[in-house]
Amino acid sequence: MECSLVWFRKDLRVHDHEPLLRASASGRPVAGLYCFDPRDYGVTSFGFPKTGAHRARFLIESVKELRDNLHKLGMKLIVRMGRPEQVIEELAASGNLDIQEVYYHDELGSEEEETVKLVKSQHPGLAFHGFDGHSLVHPEDLPFPLEDLPKLYTPFQKIILRSQEQCVRPLLPLPKRQEAVIAAEEGDIPNLDQLGLDSSMLPSDPVFRGGSSEGRKRLKHYFYDHQHVSRYGETRNGLLEYDDSSKLSPYLALGCLSPRVVYWGLKDYEQSIAMNESTQGFMAELLWREYFIYVHRKYGDRIFFAGGLDDKKLPLSRDEKRIRAWCSGETGYPFVDANMRELQQSGWMSNRGRQNTASFLAKNLGVDWRAGAEWFESSLLDYDVSVNYGNWCYNSAVGNDTRPYRIFNVTKQGNDYDPQGAYARKWLPELQAIPSERIYEVPEFTLFDQLEYGVTLGEDYPHPIVEWMASVTAFRARLKAEKE
Ligand SMILES: Cc1cc2nc3c(=O)[nH]c(=O)nc-3n(C[C@H](O)[C@H](O)[C@H](O)COP(=O)(O)OP(=O)(O)OC[C@H]3O[C@@H](n4cnc5c(N)ncnc54)[C@H](O)[C@@H]3O)c2cc1C
Repeated sequence: MECSLVWFRKDLRVHDHEPLLRASASGRPVAGLYCFDPRDYGVTSFGFPKTGAHRARFLIESVKELRDNLHKLGMKLIVRMGRPEQVIEELAASGNLDIQEVYYHDELGSEEEETVKLVKSQHPGLAFHGFDGHSLVHPEDLPFPLEDLPKLYTPFQKIILRSQEQCVRPLLPLPKRQEAVIAAEEGDIPNLDQLGLDSSMLPSDPVFRGGSSEGRKRLKHYFYDHQHVSRYGETRNGLLEYDDSSKLSPYLALGCLSPRVVYWGLKDYEQSIAMNESTQGFMAELLWREYFIYVHRKYGDRIFFAGGLDDKKLPLSRDEKRIRAWCSGETGYPFVDANMRELQQSGWMSNRGRQNTASFLAKNLGVDWRAGAEWFESSLLDYDVSVNYGNWCYNSAVGNDTRPYRIFNVTKQGNDYDPQGAYARKWLPELQAIPSERIYEVPEFTLFDQLEYGVTLGEDYPHPIVEWMASVTAFRARLKAEKE
């Protein structure tokens, strides 16, 4: 039977999905395809698993739900473990599917683009239709030529806010239910073991659950049920509570929610419930995501270069001991360590935590920031190539920051954002006995302090990996030397 294939990748939804809608309108029966591509389960250049277990679990859940949602539309979701170029070949050879066309969303990233090239070159007889759907503003509607993308975020934000009515498209409807039944074997959705990942360390009851309906539930909860978005400005830097920020990023990263659903949800909320500085602040964050997507479009692979957007020549170390200590949360700086352990144990870290830990690795430890970006790629539930690498460039003095010499003082930040030490105590059980007001002073503890609180540096908790002021001075000297 002649059919069209919709190839899903990081667009695991049926709402606001142009390829699905167009395929469905083409008149031929439609089947979905998702491939667990072995290239996504290899190792990064620093030797980390490319997709860690937390994100893989979230992905599996999202694929399961996509299958359920396609069934409701009378469509199958074929799932295979294998490279898409080979899977499509095998499907075509099986005789059950006479594939005529392939519809898909284009994705940014050299690896993602390479995969599409391979698929196309190996199937010259098929018609391919790629669409843009990962950004809020469709690339054709950007109100300036891409080469004029401002080097800084603020002017970008101003332009987009001014022209948002023209440059954010309305939501697309769901495709019609299909009557024809395609005789293809759907295939099992693999589990973590089959993807070569260790599930033993995962929490049995994770806070985040994958899937498009979970994403919608989260949006409804955060916007309408509790109106948290109206207090976003006051809570967004919180470290402990699930509702401190929207936690929508994992759903956006895998496309379980389209950015337009979040945007139009926000506009509806502002019209029907309340518009204030917090809702505007939330919009500004959504536009940061947008900005990094367009930075990636403009600068391409430069976002992966050690020297970043301007190819800066900063000396970078690949000191394995430092990298290991940072990844496992054993730097001797409680704010860094608490955040890194949260990431390792849950797949999540707040934006505040990400800024501090990134600055610490790149600036205080002088390590090649790409080790950190790869660790985040491996560990974060919400990993998004453009947003992750864009933020890493920004926080490592090789991106769009107007103040590249700025270093987060991780002790002060701990005291400011966790004044009761509750966050540090949650993730660093070895520091339980230390009173709140002193928990972030641990790196400077005298022998007397250590005896007083029963914590021996070097035994119960690591000595600070670098002396703070010396590391700040060394970073500024490297930056100055680069400029000269
Ligand atoms: C070093 C570093 C790496 C990061 N890597 C990623 C990543 O791989 N994927 C990712 O989605 N975000 C990344 N971020 C951005 C940010 O930390 C997360 O988007 C945010 O913490 C997600 O939480 P939330 O959904 O509750 O956000 P909220 O605070 O509720 O914000 C709403 C939405 O705005 C967007 N947003 C918020 N902050 C940023 C930001 N700084 N940059 C771009 N978009 C933002 C997100 O889509 C988010 O869901 C990174 C930040 C840093 C400093």
